[in-house]
Amino acid sequence: MPHILIVEDESAIADTLVYALQADGHSTTWVNLGGQALEHLRQRPADLVILDIGLPDISGFETCRQLRRFSEVPVLFLSARDSEIDRVVGLEIGADDYVVKPFSPREVSARVRAILKRMAPRSEPADATPVFEVDTLAMRILYHGQALALTRHEFRLLQCLIEQPRRVFSREQLLDGLGVASDVGYERTIDSHIKSLRAKLRQVAADAEPIQTHRGLGYSYSPDHA
Ligand code: CA
Repeated sequence: MPHILIVEDESAIADTLVYALQADGHSTTWVNLGGQALEHLRQRPADLVILDIGLPDISGFETCRQLRRFSEVPVLFLSARDSEIDRVVGLEIGADDYVVKPFSPREVSARVRAILKRMAPRSEPADATPVFEVDTLAMRILYHGQALALTRHEFRLLQCLIEQPRRVFSREQLLDGLGVASDVGYERTIDSHIKSLRAKLRQVAADAEPIQTHRGLGYSYSPDHA
């Protein structure tokens, strides 16, 4: 569970942040002085620090400057004014992001998630499984590691699309790939194959849309939506 240190002297703001971040699955500690924050971080490292700029003892800027002597922990600044943010950027103080008050707790949560994601070790084999794997001999296609139960036509169609990502194929070109003569109803033939193909892909990844429709043109495979 990521641990987040909140440094903020206004308890109402701190309460909102604690609530939002805990709801998002983080553990939190709240302190209201810069000095306390530094002391706390020397004892117990955090995964992220939310640091108000206007603090009663030392400013958020000074807190961050001292913090950087012993820690690389990501810092998200809270600012009461846009003009302070110019200083965050201008001083290259080692901030990872900032939000200007008043902010919505949801916005802060989203920023926190984004920073933590950026910081996550890249070594995880996140993309070890390719989106599509084609086994031409067995006429089999795996999608996110799962074998699709495809008809011969669906197999050819999908193979044709994924071999050339982002290329828009006309229905006629796709029909050629199937080795079927184009007769009067060919457009609908392709459309119905695509429809059943999409249904099968959706069973594996409900939110993905790897096959894109291009109105008046045809279809393409989009790795960005796979
Ligand atoms: Ca303040």
